[in-house]
Amino acid sequence: MTRAAAVTNWARNITYEAREYRRPETLDALRALVAGAARVRVLGSGHSFNRIADPGADGLLLSVAGLPPVLDVDTAARTVRVAGGVRYAELARAVHAHGLALGNMASLPHISVAGSVATGTHGSGVTNGPLASAVREVEIVTADGTALTVGRGDSRFDGAVTALGALGVVTALTLDLEPSYGVEQHVFTELPLEGLDFAAVAGCAYSVSLFTDWREPGFRQVWVKHRTDQGELTFPWAAPATEALHPVPGMSAVNCTEQFGVPGPWHERLPHFRAEFTPSSGDELQSEYLLPRHTAVEALHAIDAVRSAVAPVLQTCEVRTVAADRQWLSPAYGRDSVALHFTWTADAEAVRPVVRRLESVLDPFGPRPHWGKVYSVPAPGLRGRYPRLADFRALARTLDPAGKFANGFVRAVLED
Ligand SMILES: Cc1cc2nc3c(=O)[nH]c(=O)nc-3n(C[C@H](O)[C@H](O)[C@H](O)COP(=O)(O)OP(=O)(O)OC[C@H]3O[C@@H](n4cnc5c(N)ncnc54)[C@H](O)[C@@H]3O)c2cc1C
Repeated sequence: MTRAAAVTNWARNITYEAREYRRPETLDALRALVAGAARVRVLGSGHSFNRIADPGADGLLLSVAGLPPVLDVDTAARTVRVAGGVRYAELARAVHAHGLALGNMASLPHISVAGSVATGTHGSGVTNGPLASAVREVEIVTADGTALTVGRGDSRFDGAVTALGALGVVTALTLDLEPSYGVEQHVFTELPLEGLDFAAVAGCAYSVSLFTDWREPGFRQVWVKHRTDQGELTFPWAAPATEALHPVPGMSAVNCTEQFGVPGPWHERLPHFRAEFTPSSGDELQSEYLLPRHTAVEALHAIDAVRSAVAPVLQTCEVRTVAADRQWLSPAYGRDSVALHFTWTADAEAVRPVVRRLESVLDPFGPRPHWGKVYSVPAPGLRGRYPRLADFRALARTLDPAGKFANGFVRAVLED
């Protein structure tokens, strides 16, 4: 047993208040721990920036990273069954070795599969849903310690994947795969905001990210990830970069995935950061908001109007697209989205008022904050942005009637 006082998240802005921290090595041990505890939350790879994973002072913080790392690829069915604690980097390598691929990845491959899909984590691409959209089956240890499998077609499925850890411990997931594909990554520089044809730029390739530090009204970099099986890339809006770039201006690109259009396997180009390096020390905070995609240009101009407040505490802002998702608690639920991401400095005091200011200018667009990042949108306002919240609440009450998995964060979201 470890005192949880020692456990922090990756960014070290959160120390979990939990009474104890356990890392069982067998499913039976995990089931017994869950059945015997009054309050439980699972910690994935700890890459969230808020108290979403904290069970509170009387709770048990449970890691699934000690369970056997299941990685069963079924080449005929084009699926993989993976343990919840496995990280995307390891999953991607295993899948690629079988000539198969995931449809998308987040910017960082070091995050756990169960923890990522629990918060609606996504990459970019106008036709790419969040990472959870690849999940076809999820295996959950529920509050009384019993194991439950929920698959596509089950009426509970659309609540069961992006579930904020509120339904139980996800021990394994089965994901859809496709034949392996190649990707070229091209970086372009200095794209003005004025006259931006967002739909054309975001849709010019499989996955596109626009980066700005908001020191001027435009984008310093555009990262274009072009599938080699999708014809020629044309990008008439900005000039190609002449050196390898990091999304944070001035930082070395040594940890970034290969650029200059050098073709490579999907999992070595879709993330921005290389699997074999630690991308940064964690000296940062992050916020992100998903808005209806058709409001992208208007929302970017709204941010431009407050950029003198935003820029001093900003490392970089990334603009991505996410296709509509069916998961009830997904920030992309039911709407094709633009995702506005902010990597802040680590100074929480200085960042907090800027986050509030940003949220006030984005409010007219009905933003849904990323569940794993820093936000201050009050829970009552958030609840109105999730039309299937009542269904999720009912599902949580059925699977976890005593609220064993409901910490303060989840209770605030679900309260009637
Ligand atoms: C450098 C960096 C880059 C990032 N890039 C992106 C990005 O490109 N796109 C994006 O959308 N987000 C991104 N994020 C955010 C990140 O993907 C999310 O915070 C994600 O949830 C992290 O996964 P995790 O395993 O670390 O989860 P944790 O932070 O450990 O947990 C998150 C939630 O998942 C639950 N959980 C974890 N494991 C389980 C389990 N086995 N069973 C049940 N519940 C579980 C926890 O209880 C908690 O509620 C980034 C974060 C960092 C630090």
